[in-house]
Amino acid sequence: MEAMKNCCMTRHPQDPGRRTLLKAGVGAGTAAMMAAVSLVPRGAEAASLTQAQRDAMTPDQVIEMLKQGNQRFRAGKPQQHDYLAQKRSSASGQFPAAVILSCIDSRAPAEIILDAGIGDTFNGRVAGNISNSDLLGSMEFACAAAGAKVVLVMGHTACGAVAGAIDNVELGNLTGLLKVIKPAVEATKYSGDRSGKNAEFVDAVAKTNVQHTIAAIRKNSPILAGLEKEGKIKIVGSMYDLSNGMVTFLS
Ligand SMILES: [Zn+2]
Repeated sequence: MEAMKNCCMTRHPQDPGRRTLLKAGVGAGTAAMMAAVSLVPRGAEAASLTQAQRDAMTPDQVIEMLKQGNQRFRAGKPQQHDYLAQKRSSASGQFPAAVILSCIDSRAPAEIILDAGIGDTFNGRVAGNISNSDLLGSMEFACAAAGAKVVLVMGHTACGAVAGAIDNVELGNLTGLLKVIKPAVEATKYSGDRSGKNAEFVDAVAKTNVQHTIAAIRKNSPILAGLEKEGKIKIVGSMYDLSNGMVTFLS
């Protein structure tokens, strides 16, 4: 009997905090509301977004919250993320406000630089923040099925994938990926050194590449383009500066 109990406890570990609340006669929904938090800081009790909180926001409000999150990150004053509380509150359902398409670069982790927690944002990361059918499908899921209000494409300074595309790097499967970025190289007007060694040019191409990715999303995803036309979502671009930590929104 004791062994069975232990087994069940192992398979279905009770959370001490939740147990205390339930013992006190507080239902799970109420508990989640009590611990609720959005991307706006609400202290140490931070939990994931609730459906009510997410649904009440407009796309512009979501963008504003992402901007505020980046300001907190830059100021060195992020939320006191209680990841276990966020894990608990999001385990039975997720209501992220945005889907972020960003680069795999280890120095540009979207959730950290936007001070978002577990359950707050969907994240797609691929070298050079390009879109393809798999990523479009992921973003369509995020917005059309799961209710996210914003598609944020985020490029960054000193992007190795962009520099590789500029310098015509060839390496296995990477060659095909860089081919997607190359039109941004040609489309970037720049009169100086147009090589991957020129940081200014690399950053200019990265910005063009973000704009190209957004155009590709609108062109290749009638679902996302339709949601945007209806005003249900916004598709926006941004550039993250590795040096000063700032995310600049492009539109
Ligand atoms: Zn990159």
